Amino acid sequence: MSLTVVGSIAFDAVTTPFGTREKMLGGSAVHFSLASSFFTDVRVVGPVGDDFGDAEYGVLRNRGVICDDIEHVPGGETFFWRGHYDYDLNTAHTDDTRLNVFGSFAPKLSPESRASDVLFLANIQPDLQREVREQSDARFVALDSMNLWIETARDSLLKTIEGVDCVLLNDAEIRQLTRKPNLVQAAKELRALGPKVVVAKQGEYGAALLTDEGFFGLPAYPLETVNDPTGAGDSFAGGFVGYLAAHQGEDLSHQTLCRAMAYGTAIASYNVEEFGTERVSRLTREEITARVSELQKITHFVDAPVALRA
Ligand code: AMP
Repeated sequence: MSLTVVGSIAFDAVTTPFGTREKMLGGSAVHFSLASSFFTDVRVVGPVGDDFGDAEYGVLRNRGVICDDIEHVPGGETFFWRGHYDYDLNTAHTDDTRLNVFGSFAPKLSPESRASDVLFLANIQPDLQREVREQSDARFVALDSMNLWIETARDSLLKTIEGVDCVLLNDAEIRQLTRKPNLVQAAKELRALGPKVVVAKQGEYGAALLTDEGFFGLPAYPLETVNDPTGAGDSFAGGFVGYLAAHQGEDLSHQTLCRAMAYGTAIASYNVEEFGTERVSRLTREEITARVSELQKITHFVDAPVALRA
């Protein structure tokens, strides 16, 4: 049982109302792999430059993430993203994106990453996601993307979505991509393209699961302290897809998917408490289990009869 992720490996510069970091480890594949490493063996595929050193590899390796398929491009610089958040921490504002080594990246999966049971296409250019998908023998493939690609490569993204089993996007991105204002209809339209599972991430409001079997909504874990939401979506995806990877071979029932949502939600809640990878890199399995139990408690209620008036 193993999981391969392809996506950005990055340095991020982030400002939120609660602080600033000028250069921290980030990237969709990094946040995803740290979260999913709690469930299975994870291999990361993506390029880095000369500036990506032992400290950065150390964060991944400390969580057992397999870095053999990270491609070091001599003379190159690692992908760089600068963004900020206002008091509405749900919206990331991009100030600068430097593709650097991603500009000339031609993904080539090793035999080991090709053979993974599960593949996650984290947020990168959709043509690249498709190239990876075509090389993989995975039995379950999930995908994430962002508004940049919906705006600049919509047709390519739709084509990539046709070849996957599960799509995870922010609810605003689902509406933007399908050009449908109603989320239930928009998710149905995405499912008609091929994927059987659609997850709409809703920032601090949680996430919704939409399958042919039904709907499941889970709030975000109620936190008193949120410092940096960067990577929340990828940590959620890492927990969600990681949980599914740990249950490969079993029937992917609606109930299994609902449980996977709880693990994604729990890990994402830790991610946002501190900047970048700071919190998840020292997260423990006991902490994850505790928050999943809490989520179960706060989302359960028992109905009691009441005389409703006509
Ligand atoms: P999220 O989980 O949605 O908050 O994603 C955060 C991560 O996405 C950051 O660590 C960035 O490095 C990465 N990112 C931002 N823009 C892009 C992009 N255009 N392509 C790939 N990754 C990106």
